[in-house]
Amino acid sequence: MSSFVRIGSTILRHARYLNQRSSRCTYHTSSPLSKPDLSVAIVGSGPSGCYTAKYLILTLEQLQQKGQLTNANMDDLKNVNIDILEKLPTPFGLVRSGVAPDHPEVKNVENDFSLLFQGNHENQKQSATVTQTHTKSKTEKLIQKSIVFRGNVAVGKDISLEELQSLYDVVVLAYGCESNRKLGLEGESLDGVFSAREFVAWYNGHPEFAHMGSYFKQALGNNPSQANVVVIGQGNVALDCARILAKGSQGLMSTDIASHALEIIQDGVEKTTVLGRRGHVQGAFTIKELRELTKLQDASFIVDEAELDAGTTTASLEELNGPGSRPKIRIDKLLRKAAAKTSSEDEKSKQVRLRFLLNPVQFIPDSAVKSRLGSVLCERTRLEGELGNQVAVGTGEMEEITANMALVSIGYKGLQLPGMNDALFDEKTGVVRNTNGKVHSKSNLYASGWLKRGPSGIIGTNISDAKDTVSSIVNDLRDIAESKVDGRVGLDSLLSERNIQVIDWESYQRIDAAEKDTSRLRSDGQPREKFTNVDEMLNYK
Ligand code: FAD
Ligand code: NAP
Repeated sequence: MSSFVRIGSTILRHARYLNQRSSRCTYHTSSPLSKPDLSVAIVGSGPSGCYTAKYLILTLEQLQQKGQLTNANMDDLKNVNIDILEKLPTPFGLVRSGVAPDHPEVKNVENDFSLLFQGNHENQKQSATVTQTHTKSKTEKLIQKSIVFRGNVAVGKDISLEELQSLYDVVVLAYGCESNRKLGLEGESLDGVFSAREFVAWYNGHPEFAHMGSYFKQALGNNPSQANVVVIGQGNVALDCARILAKGSQGLMSTDIASHALEIIQDGVEKTTVLGRRGHVQGAFTIKELRELTKLQDASFIVDEAELDAGTTTASLEELNGPGSRPKIRIDKLLRKAAAKTSSEDEKSKQVRLRFLLNPVQFIPDSAVKSRLGSVLCERTRLEGELGNQVAVGTGEMEEITANMALVSIGYKGLQLPGMNDALFDEKTGVVRNTNGKVHSKSNLYASGWLKRGPSGIIGTNISDAKDTVSSIVNDLRDIAESKVDGRVGLDSLLSERNIQVIDWESYQRIDAAEKDTSRLRSDGQPREKFTNVDEMLNYK
């Protein structure tokens, strides 16, 4: 593989790039000046983008150590550039803008991801489990990697997918799910009906959702602490929303929840009802998140024993007794214990209620203001079908639940980028068509994470997913006899020509430090006050 700067247009561009950069002196300096042997662009800096970068480097190193890169035309592969493009000025996707503010321990994974960008090979090695299989001596030279962050660059807007594909040997799409599934019910467009995605992104300070505060405020009314909220769906996102709505400032003051959100929900809401169309055995939540709801300081947790019993069909009992059912058994026990409590035992100012076997069928307008939500009409269901495949079947019995606000929490959904077509993207499921991360077609496109498999799985699930995509990339490397692309130099040149204000890792670190500056914080324990406006962040460029 060639590792020299090519002559012709590339070298000219390179020189222009270096001139531009030296006058601003803000760019990451770890990139090798010689042309890399392999240039990879990753779109999206969430867990899947970061894990793909990490395991691509580790896998190449491991193969090189074992002498197994030779038949891939990569035997002299020395320099690998990985450029992670992110539409926001800040990295880490849903770790920053999805994970609940009162779960700070989950966000520690950002420290691991940050090592990627620090250009410190030793740190990278220490944090990697794959390196344990290395057999050669420590002094042996490994692949020189350079992983950089290019924030505030929206692929499909600032640079097209086609341009990216022509600039890089490999392009990995890891831009997650930018939309959400809808119920398709009458009244879903009423004021007061939102997706959980909007609510979560708002309380987590995502700049694209900062304007939503006025809508949430209007829906919750002059006294949010007396509001009724219905959350539809029973995954962990639904439970996160219910917990955040119930906690109020006492439980959230020392978290990184955006102050604009805390101002509105500082006293919590009076009543939150979380609806599941199926029974408790089929709930998509996990025990840890459920237990937190049962232990809220000033909100009672309520479940109805009759609903637990109605969901305990023969098939549900088999589900509770089958292999791998321990988590379900614990959930069943916890819910039954909660149901057995008398109301006087646990009377608090607020309530979180889990309802089962209730399927929303219509959002009904408020009787006084017709454009606003007034209640959610639900149909009682019963479970039918075999173990593992039980479905909710309507019984015709209806129940109307008063609601100032409804949050639809039935899953996120991926969107296609401009320039994609049906051959690349499955509109119905919202995923990029792929086989083990290789996008269907003879292209240099790959996919990773939620965009590849759909919106399910925790942060750790993206590790095996990224490794799967990395295997596909490495298998294809034999087709890249010699890198002929402009890579990072071409990208930076093009973005500069377009006056895109790129946030690199150093700039992000300034944003990060400013967010943690004590002068911005509302309490001693608050880890950071996020900027909720892109322009504010660009001041730190
Ligand atoms: P994302 O994390 O969404 O990352 C995608 C990135 O791509 C984003 O940074 C986005 O800004 C960027 N992007 C989008 N479009 C473009 C574009 N056009 N150009 C450039 N960049 C773009 N898992 C846990 O283990 N623990 C938890 O507590 C937890 N809490 C969660 C809470 C919520 C509300 C949600 C929704 C999920 C939670 N998860 C949790 C799951 C976890 O967040 C996901 O598994 C993971 O984030 C998926 O990673 P991803 O990289 O595929 O997508
Ligand atoms: P999810 O886990 O897939 O849950 C979706 C919920 O919506 C299910 O209860 C589902 O019920 C319901 N639903 C789907 N379609 C519906 C419809 N048409 N009508 C009524 N209900 C419907 O999705 P999520 O909560 O968005 O979470 C996404 C992923 O992120 C999950 O893997 C989750 O574990 C992860 N996450 C993890 C954490 C954490 O670890 N703390 C926090 C948040 C998110 P059915 O089963 O009946 O379809």
